[in-house]
Amino acid sequence: MSGKIEFVDLRAQQERIREDLNKRVIKVLEHGQYIQGPECQELESALAEYCRCSHVIGVSSGTDALLMALMAKGVGPGDAVFCPAFTFTATAEVIVLLGATPVFVDVDPDSYLIDLGNLTAAITKVRQGKLIPRAILAVDLFGLTPDYRALTKFSQEHDLILIADAAQSFGAVFGNDRVGKLAPVTVTSFFPAKPLGCYGDGGAIMTDDTELAEQLRSIRAHGKGIHKYDIVRIGINGRLDTLQAAILLAKLKVFDDELRAREQVALWYDEALGGKIKKPVRPVGITCAWAQYTIQLDDRDRVADMLKTKGIPTAIYYPKPIHLQPAYMSYGDGIGSLPVSEFLSQRVLSLPMHPYLSRETIGIIADHLHAVIT
Ligand SMILES: *Cc1c(COP(=O)(O)O)cnc(C)c1O
Repeated sequence: MSGKIEFVDLRAQQERIREDLNKRVIKVLEHGQYIQGPECQELESALAEYCRCSHVIGVSSGTDALLMALMAKGVGPGDAVFCPAFTFTATAEVIVLLGATPVFVDVDPDSYLIDLGNLTAAITKVRQGKLIPRAILAVDLFGLTPDYRALTKFSQEHDLILIADAAQSFGAVFGNDRVGKLAPVTVTSFFPAKPLGCYGDGGAIMTDDTELAEQLRSIRAHGKGIHKYDIVRIGINGRLDTLQAAILLAKLKVFDDELRAREQVALWYDEALGGKIKKPVRPVGITCAWAQYTIQLDDRDRVADMLKTKGIPTAIYYPKPIHLQPAYMSYGDGIGSLPVSEFLSQRVLSLPMHPYLSRETIGIIADHLHAVIT
């Protein structure tokens, strides 16, 4: 094995696409259209083709994508938005920013995804109070997509808007469809460490709804109407940079190959970790984007420290569920209210995951892990 083990190796990827990357970046520097240059449109078309969805709106980040999706749907004060408690802060933050109320729902202990039984109970409870149940923000944690067919049916039955927070799962496949095509509105992130990442902040919204796509294009440009100084709604500055679009075009070329490599790395981990360690689930018919390879351990913190001394980086996603974060305490029922999320936050550990890990490296990581836990 050569060199240091990286948690995410963006350098190996950069080496691979260097020539195309340089060409595309220089082209942007030459034409100088840094805002909404031709690469933005080119990327949106390429992504729409990739996901086989009608519209892709390139935006400034995954967080802004979530915010704009909720804005377009008119979510605001008095509305309850249901989201898992075991997720990244951004999922909940945008709900609060719009004056709506996040209702945290516990997740499934195996898939770590929002649990329909708990969701039903949460909706019933909200209906007894003053808030109006408005939307479900489902999260594709670690790159695994929930069953959006079931979730779409569920949301229709309960008259709720469904938005997919697919920040971690771009590229994942469920049945014959890719993320972007699975939910009525899908939001993703191009943060550098995500499966498809740029070299800064970026994101996208995907939908087949033409009217919604038009609203989103307006919202991302300060609510513009026919022209720039015709303002028809409240918007934000939510555009994706031309340079980031150019970088993503270069990365998209190798993305499918990288997804296959991630799947291979996950298989090597499955094999090398054996039966004693709780590994990620693999539901039939789903190809995960493997944003993370996350295991569960009884004494997670000790194991993480030991691995660190061996030069193996790990990460904890997430050490605290949202409902126990100081800023969000007032929206939940505190400790003990969402036991699965609380349990997971004490036990999860994400191992190095990127397309450029070798079988040999996975073997070394697994050997250290086995040595530490026995
Ligand atoms: C990364 C992430 C986001 C936010 O994406 P940014 O591009 O960093 O703003 C939102 N939700 C989830 C689940 C994420 O992992």
